[in-house]
Amino acid sequence: METSKPHVGLLPLPGMGHLIPYLGLGKLFATHHNFKITIFLVSIDHSSQTESKTIISEMSNELCNIVQLPPVDITSLVDPNATIGVRLPVTMREIVPAFRSSIATIMPCPTVLITDIFGTDAFSVADEFDMLKYVFVSLHAWFLALTIYTPILDKEVKGEYVHQKEPLKIPGCASVRVEDLFDPLLDWTNQQYDEYMRAGIRLRMSDGVLVNSWEELQPKTFAALRDDKLLGCVLKSPVYPVGPVVTQSDDSSKSGLLFDWLNKQPNDSVVYVSFGSGATLSHEQMTELAFGLELSKQRFVWVVRAPTEKSGDKAYLKGRSGDENHDQFGYLPKGFMSRIQNVGFVISDWVSQVDILSHPSIGAFISHCGWNSTLESILNGVPIIAFPLFAEQKMNATMLTEEFGMAVRLEVLPSNKVVGREEIQNKVRKIMVDKEGHGIRDRVNELKYSAEKALCKGGSSYRALSELAKSFEARMQ
Ligand code: UDP
Repeated sequence: METSKPHVGLLPLPGMGHLIPYLGLGKLFATHHNFKITIFLVSIDHSSQTESKTIISEMSNELCNIVQLPPVDITSLVDPNATIGVRLPVTMREIVPAFRSSIATIMPCPTVLITDIFGTDAFSVADEFDMLKYVFVSLHAWFLALTIYTPILDKEVKGEYVHQKEPLKIPGCASVRVEDLFDPLLDWTNQQYDEYMRAGIRLRMSDGVLVNSWEELQPKTFAALRDDKLLGCVLKSPVYPVGPVVTQSDDSSKSGLLFDWLNKQPNDSVVYVSFGSGATLSHEQMTELAFGLELSKQRFVWVVRAPTEKSGDKAYLKGRSGDENHDQFGYLPKGFMSRIQNVGFVISDWVSQVDILSHPSIGAFISHCGWNSTLESILNGVPIIAFPLFAEQKMNATMLTEEFGMAVRLEVLPSNKVVGREEIQNKVRKIMVDKEGHGIRDRVNELKYSAEKALCKGGSSYRALSELAKSFEARMQ
C-alpha cells in the first residue's frame, strides 16, 4: 500500500531576506521529493504583509501553499525603540496561538515543522500535532557555531567576552574581531542579547538543523558542529548543510528598461549596488556612495532606497524632487542623474536580484553581505565589494574577505563612521580594473563551481536533502 507523502510546514521570520531561502527550501522539497509544502507568513506590519505575500506568491510558481497568519500586536510587550533583534523573537512567540489555530484547520496536517532559530516556541504546536521539529538556519555554519557557542561562554562570563580585546575564537571557525560580531552580542544588558542566548539554547530541542551552506565551503565548522568533544556535545541534533538554497525567478521577469540597458553593456562591465530587502543608508552615506561611483568611472546599477532619516517619507521625496538641487530621487546629489545617464542606471523598485546578478554584464556587487546576496553572488561568479551594515553582516564580510578571498572590504572612516567616496572609488577600481581583481574573480568562480557541485545529483547538499527527505518519509510509515 502506498503511504502518503510528507507535508512540510515552513515558519520563517518576517522579511523578504528570511522568506526567500525558506521558499527556496520549500521548492526543493516540492520538486525533488514531491512533498506538499505550506509556508506560514508572519508579518510585523500590514504594508510589509501585503508586499511580501505578493512577491512570495509570484516566486512560488504554485509549488507551495502560502498561508498568511494574522498580524500580532506587540506594542504593549516591547519598548517603542526596541531593535529588530527584540521585535522578531517577541513576534515569533506571540504568533504561536495563531499558528496553532491555522495548523488545526489544515488538512492533511503538516507532518514536519521547519522554523528559524527564533521560531522554536512553535515547537509546542509541533509536539501537540505530532510533527517532526527542525530548525533551518538560513545563514552559514559559522553563524550556527556562534549561536551554539555563545550560551556556553555566557554561562562562564556573562557577555564579558565582548569587552576583551582579543578576537573571539569559536571551535571550527576563524577568529572574529569582537566589533564584527553579530549585533545582539555587543551589549549583554540589552534584551536582544537574552533573546539570542535563549534561541541558542532552545535550538537543542530540534530533531535536526538545516544550514544554508555546503560542506565543502566550511568543512572545519561542520566538523566542529558534529564533534562530540566540541560543539556537537552541546548541539546533539544532526546538522544538514543543504545550501546554497536560493530562489530563481522565471525568465519572463528579465524584461523592462533595466534589462534593455544591461543588454547593451559589455560583459563584466557593470557594478551592481544593492543593500538587500530592507537596509537604508544615511543621507551622508548616500552622497558619498553617489560620488564614489561617479569617481570610479565604471558603469553601475544602483537600487536606491530613501535614506534613513526620511525613509519611506513620500512627502519628503515629493518636496525634494522639485528642488533644483536634487534629482528625481530627491536625495541624490545635484545633477547626479544627468551626469551619470550614459554609465549608470538607478532604480528604486523591487527587481529580482538573481536576475540582475545572472546577467553577463555584471562584473561586481557592492553588497551589505546579507547571506542570500552572498550566495547569489557566488552562484553567479560575481565578486563582492563588502559594505556591511548591521546584524551578522560584518561577520560575513570578514569571512568573505579573509577566509574565502572573494571580496574586498570598504573601510569606514573613524571620524564620521561613513565610507568615503575615495575609498569607494579605489575599491571599485581594484575589482573592476586592477590586476588584484582577477585573483578575486578566479576565487569566486572556484566557489561557484564548488556550490554547483554540492547541489548536483550526488553532491553533498543534494545528499543531505535526500537524507532529510528519507527521515520525513520514515515518519509516514
Ligand atoms: N532582493 C531582490 N530584489 C531587491 C532586493 C533584494 O530580489 O531589490 C532579494 C535578494 O535577491 C535576496 C534577498 O532579497 O534574496 C535579500 O536577502 P539578504 O540576505 O541578502 O539581505 P536582507 O534583505 O536579509 O538584509
